[in-house]
Amino acid sequence: MTESHDSHCPYCALQCAMTLTPTDASSGTPPIDIAAPAGARRLPLTVAGRDFPTNRGGLCKKGWTSAELLDVDDRVTSPLVRQPDGSFAPASWETVLDRIADTVRDSRDRFGADSVGVFGGGGLTNEKAYQLGKFARIALGTSRIDYNGRFCMSSAAAAGNRAFGLDRGLPFPVEDLDGASTILMLGSNVAATMPPFIGHLQGARGDRGLIVVDPRRSETAKLTDEGQGVHLAPAPGTDLIVLLGLTHIVITEGLADLDYLAARTTGFDAVRRSANAWWPERVQQVTGVPVAQLREVSRRLADGRGTYILTGRGVEQHVDGTDTATAAINLALVLGLVGKPGSGYGTLTGQGNGQGGREHGQKSDQLPGYRMITDPAARAHVAGVWGVDPSIIPGPGVPAVALLDELGRPGGIRCLFVHGSNVVVSAPDVDAVRAGLRALDLLVVSDFVLSETARLADIVLPVTQWAEEEGTMTSLEGRVIRRRRAIEAPGEARSELWIMRELAERLGAPGTWSTEPAEVFDELARASAGGKADYSGLSHALLDTGIAAHWPFPPGSEGTPRMFGERFAHPDGLARMVAVSPRVREPLGQHGGELTLVTGRLLEHYQSGAQTRRVPELLGARPHVTAQLHPSTAARLGIAEGDAIEVANVRGLVRARAEVTTGIRLDTVFLPFHFAGEQCANLLTERAVDPISSMPEFKRTLVTVTRADAT
Ligand code: SF4
Repeated sequence: MTESHDSHCPYCALQCAMTLTPTDASSGTPPIDIAAPAGARRLPLTVAGRDFPTNRGGLCKKGWTSAELLDVDDRVTSPLVRQPDGSFAPASWETVLDRIADTVRDSRDRFGADSVGVFGGGGLTNEKAYQLGKFARIALGTSRIDYNGRFCMSSAAAAGNRAFGLDRGLPFPVEDLDGASTILMLGSNVAATMPPFIGHLQGARGDRGLIVVDPRRSETAKLTDEGQGVHLAPAPGTDLIVLLGLTHIVITEGLADLDYLAARTTGFDAVRRSANAWWPERVQQVTGVPVAQLREVSRRLADGRGTYILTGRGVEQHVDGTDTATAAINLALVLGLVGKPGSGYGTLTGQGNGQGGREHGQKSDQLPGYRMITDPAARAHVAGVWGVDPSIIPGPGVPAVALLDELGRPGGIRCLFVHGSNVVVSAPDVDAVRAGLRALDLLVVSDFVLSETARLADIVLPVTQWAEEEGTMTSLEGRVIRRRRAIEAPGEARSELWIMRELAERLGAPGTWSTEPAEVFDELARASAGGKADYSGLSHALLDTGIAAHWPFPPGSEGTPRMFGERFAHPDGLARMVAVSPRVREPLGQHGGELTLVTGRLLEHYQSGAQTRRVPELLGARPHVTAQLHPSTAARLGIAEGDAIEVANVRGLVRARAEVTTGIRLDTVFLPFHFAGEQCANLLTERAVDPISSMPEFKRTLVTVTRADAT
């Protein structure tokens, strides 16, 4: 009899529930009654969707094919060391760990502790994310740690913290959306990124309608064809102005909830003044969204029958992403939606542990429990849990783009550890990142495959992956869930917890370094106690009882599925409304022959594609990058469907195939960011960042497009 294991998908933040059943090696047949196609590979386990509030048994094609990840051709099963000829050769763990520790010691002695850096990931379990922050601060002694969530959730997190005093993506359970009458979704293509989520939009789709803001007619925007749906397609980078325009109409038409504003917020007067400048006709002129649509949407949002406003990366991945998310929050507060039953504001976290990944100390300025590293009380509390003097915890480091800028520079980082991230595909201006990585004295990449970043490493450390390890993740609704081991890892693959313990001991680090996820979780819970993201009442054993564990979850509590019902997390309990103004006032694509590049996602791929490009069914469906162009734009440029084209600017050139579609604006070109090499969209993006969140600009880059044979 083969035992099944309840776990969750290895990909996105919806964290769909799955049942994992190891293939019964002794019987030679799969343990469930599914006839495999002739010649199909025999995978180590089978995956079935499991009933759970977020996915109700559903999975997308990434989830259904996730067992393929456990059997990829280039799985790293032993430590690899780069040879003088550039190839990799296997080596023993003892050899590589000793060499890493020696090189780190030497670098710290010669160049200081901040010559060593750590780049983490939003897909790491809570336990690994926590341990990585601790490892950086007290084993390596460096302030230089940040992670790829800086490319993903940082603007929404900054806006949430500023407005509410706390950042939890959805401050309500996903199922609450089922009862919505109207949902305004800005910059999120859930129909492609997390298809089971669409089930929660049915109420709005059948009632007053789904309202989608996206410059593209995305798969999600197409849902607005039904019923009373509305698709607003503003010029890229003008979402903030659309939000100011909606806020202006709500206020001037007397639709604001003045009682709520007086009782629960501060700053409304300043917000009203800032919105004054954005009357509908002016908004139409800048964004291209018709006045009639703006008025219709404003009235519908205010109809009082259950309205939710949701934002995603489309509006957040900008140099003014924090202010744009703030404008969405301001609109929600003006309408009195936040903290009331049956309405609300939330942001849709993308990465699998995008929520937990930002709570436990991977960020350059934060300690576990979502505490600021500059706060003396926070430092003292965490130091007590770590068993160290607070003075040895370094101060704040630098956020991801600045950290990558320091690679190989004089006085910068000389040794880098990369965990759970593929930066030479996912970071902006990847050619510059690649050059930085090549200039390092030591690049150590922990991964289970030879990702594009791992291929540049001096040492690759083979690690366990989702179905081979125990741990926890925190979903987009702040629910802490259990990841369970269903099979053993192959070869010499080890958990990052084991790697960090081995290196910490070699480096003479203080404190204890458990390799047991349940023990690390208990330590994480103690470190989080009293912090914003408080896990102190939770344990693996309690989670194994199947409770719904939304944080904050202090001891004796039953968790917090819904937040802000009575008060916000600022000391006075009030939400802060912050007046914001656009810095971007015109569509980029109106200059000469240039177009505005927007990057985004496809149904078949996830993040940098390091995983999904190794799954035959997913790669077969989307084998290469395609660039979406409007038919009129394509005709003007002499481009036809399927043509080889070049998308270029001063930073680089991407080779793609043309996908001609009316679903995109005349002034815009869309590239998915899941592809590597000369197909990598981030060859073109720039390192300009939001001054508050340090989020790079991924959605508004000037490019030219030409047919490949025309150059
Ligand atoms: Fe996995 Fe996300 Fe797809 Fe669910 S929606 S199966 S969590 S990738």
